[in-house]
Amino acid sequence: MTDNTLKAQDKSSILIIYTGGTIGMKEDPADQTLKPFDFSQIMEEVPELRKFACRIDSYTFDPLIDSSDVEPAMWQELAGLIGRSYDEYDGFVVLHGTDTMSFTASALSFMLDGLEKPVVFTGSQLPIGRPRTDGKENLVSAVEIASAKDADGHALVPEVTVYFDARLLRGNRTTKVNAEHFDAFRSPNLPPLAEAGINIRYNTGIIRRPAAFGHPLKVMPELDTRVSILKVHPGITPQVVSNILLGAETRAVIIETYGSGNAISKDWFINLLKVAGDMGKILVNVTQCLYGSVNMDIYATGRRLKEAGVVSGRDSTTESMLAKLFHLMGISRDNAWVKSRLEENLKGEISE
Ligand code: ASP
Repeated sequence: MTDNTLKAQDKSSILIIYTGGTIGMKEDPADQTLKPFDFSQIMEEVPELRKFACRIDSYTFDPLIDSSDVEPAMWQELAGLIGRSYDEYDGFVVLHGTDTMSFTASALSFMLDGLEKPVVFTGSQLPIGRPRTDGKENLVSAVEIASAKDADGHALVPEVTVYFDARLLRGNRTTKVNAEHFDAFRSPNLPPLAEAGINIRYNTGIIRRPAAFGHPLKVMPELDTRVSILKVHPGITPQVVSNILLGAETRAVIIETYGSGNAISKDWFINLLKVAGDMGKILVNVTQCLYGSVNMDIYATGRRLKEAGVVSGRDSTTESMLAKLFHLMGISRDNAWVKSRLEENLKGEISE
């Protein structure tokens, strides 16, 4: 299963899973676009990894992809791989493109139940072969975090996380906020779990830990992807809203609203919500704002949504809510049950 062993040694053992993304790309002279190259070339670029007193193995996805091509089947493959290798390694580093990293990290946080080991996603804005690349620091620090243990030998960060530009963020709280700068990710509603300077400082008070270590991991691969996203905007028409809300293939709709969860209060909009609700569809409210939470009790425009049966997504990101719906709908056909769990904090994705 592994295709490269750097150092068969004592102490921690880390599996680096390479899925693709800019970190491992180089320019194709034929058409000047970035295309993926193989993992051994990444390792050549980062000899620093050999200095870690831990075993580092790697696994390369085939084919390597630009993460814009990520599909839920890839999440299932990734979760299955981590499940099969779980007992063999102390931590996992996933090299992934930045474009959909927040979606994949969110999905894995729900699919890996009872996680007691680190799963650290990272990537880069500049390919690892470029002189000013951010990929080296991201990869080296991600490995250090994935192998970090406390005095009892337990993982310091037994969560699915994203490490980028000196910050470790909870994966299901992240969103990509910058297409050019190195600090490409934020977790707007949760402080970083760690920050890397001369030392890596862990924010232990907010890192999720199991009540007791030593339980097996449960991989939950079932996903139901029948979710649509309705982003409200001035000028949106009844026809567009109706197409999204009432589509036969749609079991749930994430409504991206204004501010604290407000949307159009006109009767046509509320009536369409009611029709969708009567059809049994799951309707959930997530704000378009980067910071803050949905509260449908503040304004009359929000209150009308609540009365129409829309559930609050609280301070969830859209990426995380999409993954949560895929996961919950994958394990149950009962929409009332799914709705009841949406406002619950399952894996640290919303604030208590
Ligand atoms: N398009 C690339 C990807 O997501 C961007 C990146 O990795 O930064 O795979």
